[in-house]
Amino acid sequence: MHSIQMVDLKQQYTRIKREVDAGIQEVIDNTSFINGKAVSDFVVQLSNYMSCKYVVPCANGTDALQIAMMALDLQPGDEVISPSFTYIATTEVIALLKLKIVFVEVDAQTFCIDPGAIEKAITPKTKAIIPVHLYGQAANMEAIMEIARRHHLYVIEDNAQAIGSDYTFSDGTVKKTGTIGTIGTTSFFPSKNLGCFGDGGAIFTNDETLATRLKLIANHGQSKRYYHDIIGCNSRLDSIQAAVLNVKLKYLDTYIKARREVAFYYDKAFADHPKIKTPYRAPYSNHVYHQYTLILTGVDRDGLNQFLAENNIPSMIYYPVPAHRQKMFEKLGGKDYKLDVTDWLTQRVISLPMHTELTTEQLKFITDTVLQYVN
Ligand SMILES: *Cc1c(COP(=O)(O)O)cnc(C)c1O
Repeated sequence: MHSIQMVDLKQQYTRIKREVDAGIQEVIDNTSFINGKAVSDFVVQLSNYMSCKYVVPCANGTDALQIAMMALDLQPGDEVISPSFTYIATTEVIALLKLKIVFVEVDAQTFCIDPGAIEKAITPKTKAIIPVHLYGQAANMEAIMEIARRHHLYVIEDNAQAIGSDYTFSDGTVKKTGTIGTIGTTSFFPSKNLGCFGDGGAIFTNDETLATRLKLIANHGQSKRYYHDIIGCNSRLDSIQAAVLNVKLKYLDTYIKARREVAFYYDKAFADHPKIKTPYRAPYSNHVYHQYTLILTGVDRDGLNQFLAENNIPSMIYYPVPAHRQKMFEKLGGKDYKLDVTDWLTQRVISLPMHTELTTEQLKFITDTVLQYVN
């Protein structure tokens, strides 16, 4: 049996090697390393895939969030509501821009921001909400957009873990996650569902004025060569990364399908186990399984993590420390928050290997080994 990886990028690459290598070679042959044709092609391809009018490529998913917040012209002291149960980037950029983070609770079933908690956290200073589509499942966007409309708030969707996911509204309308809020952001970090061979990111919006601002900010606020209108930054997607993404975007739906098959295998193996809760599937979201994350009860979670490692099965705890308990937010009052669901999840979640190359033999070994420990 092939060794089990958390994410098997090497085997995935082997299948598309010829196409990817040709794309990279073309960039090298043209020496069009910055803003080359591969980048403009990718922008068109991605905006078609997402059914989104404007796609602004940038250097990574963290920059995407930062540029989004800069484009909304948020001012120091403005409040931004975010879940604490997320990757640090989401909340870090809020603090970096001197905005006030308001940490809220997540829903224990979906792992995503709890709309009821948002409503309670709104003050006259609230300007924006950042739902994170954690592990590949959408937050309850219909409820979030309704709250945002009522309180005139911006919504920035952190779609780094859910690219390709469809969201179905109660009237039947279907939209891609990342294109529902005011702005959406994503990351092409190699292990993401659509990953490049280094760092990369993108920003989505259907608002023309915002799109113009996003592009300006990502490029030193430059409206015309050497004329700089607003303060921005330097955040670009390299042509070589765009060349990789042009190939991989074509396979994204196939990759998602493979991930779902893995998830169904796990679901079946752990079905109705009293100590294992498999991922909940919200009716409005079609899960793209960036992670396959279990909630354990009455099981020594870190013991299982260790036992799996001894059997050469990687597993991960996303995330062992929620944002509000991170040292970086101590002076910003992180410790004053009481987020019981977040703390509860942090102690009980474990993510199993999830990628496009897992075989039935590997899956059987993983699930048998988990059950051997848990039972
Ligand atoms: C990966 C990730 C980011 C940051 O993306 P980078 O490209 O690593 O900067 C932001 N938010 C979430 C939820 C992520 O998973």
